[in-house]
Amino acid sequence: MEIALRPYQQQVLDDVGYEFQQGKTRICATLPCGAGKTILSGWMARGTALAGRRVIFMVHRQELIEQASRTFQDMGIRHGVIATNAPKDYDLPVQVASVQTLVRRLEDIEPPDFIICDECHHIVANTYRRIIDHYPDLRVLGVTATPERIGGKGLGDVFQSLVIGPTVKELTSWGNLTPYAYYAPPSKFQADEVHVKFGEFVKSDLIKQVDDADVIGDIVQNYRRLADGKRAICYCVNRAHSEHVAKLFNAAGISAMHIDGETNKAVRMQAIEDFRRGKVQILSNAELLGEGFDVPAMEAVILARPTASLTLYIQQAMRPMRPDPENANKTAIVIDHVGNVFRHGMPDDDREWSLETKKKKPQARTKGVKTCPQCFTAMYSNTRACPVCGFEFAPAERQEMPEEKDGALLKVEDVQRKLKRQEVGRARTIQELEEIAIQRGYSMRWVTKMAAIKHIRRTG
Ligand SMILES: [Zn+2]
Repeated sequence: MEIALRPYQQQVLDDVGYEFQQGKTRICATLPCGAGKTILSGWMARGTALAGRRVIFMVHRQELIEQASRTFQDMGIRHGVIATNAPKDYDLPVQVASVQTLVRRLEDIEPPDFIICDECHHIVANTYRRIIDHYPDLRVLGVTATPERIGGKGLGDVFQSLVIGPTVKELTSWGNLTPYAYYAPPSKFQADEVHVKFGEFVKSDLIKQVDDADVIGDIVQNYRRLADGKRAICYCVNRAHSEHVAKLFNAAGISAMHIDGETNKAVRMQAIEDFRRGKVQILSNAELLGEGFDVPAMEAVILARPTASLTLYIQQAMRPMRPDPENANKTAIVIDHVGNVFRHGMPDDDREWSLETKKKKPQARTKGVKTCPQCFTAMYSNTRACPVCGFEFAPAERQEMPEEKDGALLKVEDVQRKLKRQEVGRARTIQELEEIAIQRGYSMRWVTKMAAIKHIRRTG
């Protein structure tokens, strides 16, 4: 099957090529969930192999190997697989590798010229560093939807420049992602009672709050109200929590299943297949069905796991937004029971990515989101009337910020964001744009693009 690149994928490919030409060796490209990172990677891998060089596409979980390998196969790319229990076709110039296996077999494998690292926000971890530092003249391309580590630490230690792909809004307007409705029913979750460690909430603190029959009862009730009959994935804090959720759904006559990494593989595959066919309505899990898990039939997502990580939030909230060839009018539904939207903003917010480390607390990130008291739709704080049910907010409520302890911080951050945007807006010369690019780790191609948009010409 011939898979053509979409125009924005071609653009990213060109931009990455340009950066390598300029002598950079470690590039990070950011593309939203659903932008087709694997296809783009396959395309580059094939190009590399055709040029007589060796390339490894590296993924971080065993489950994702099969998916990547299938995509490469669909694209007609002959490749080997480096994973436990996979036959060793190490002579082929294209390899798809699990990070955990690759790191143990570095000596068995002919050195690659190029490594493409999937979900490269993990790249600062030791395993990854050992791999990329093992080869001297290696080019590395990392792809990710969220170029920052959990905890907001930048990827600037590893990458030299950042290539910015399309935004979520653009992908939606082109039909590459579906529109969505975001509901945030009143949440009993109290973020200020939970400790944060390494940029994420401490699980034992979380479980005390969310694994409560009352809270789970709300989940079932709101599913009925907001997404009745739709195939939904529910993200929970841990296995016990997820099992409880599945149990309550079943008790309410809605067929649900819990699966995790330890579920027997055949059972797991069957569960996913039943979900695809609609025999199972709800698949409940802790972490299994996150990053990279692709089921276009998924129509809704239930967020029952509070997270302080923007990466995790985006990975989970955007999971149902893949277009479904069998359902052209699909609108994805997000039911957020834990207030993640108040910490991280809407899934399609335009975000100013940078390779720098962010100097702020992970909770303090919201862009001013409020919920309609009538239908629970989440929207920006300055909205006058609910776009879904028409509820009119009183004037005082229009600018209201969510009631969080660090409200003052939130406002400061909004100002900083605005200033950052203004900085680009104010730039009048190529040099000023270049300074912004260097400061934020953007590629020089970004400068060219921005200069074209702003009609700035190079002088002297
Ligand atoms: Zn409403």
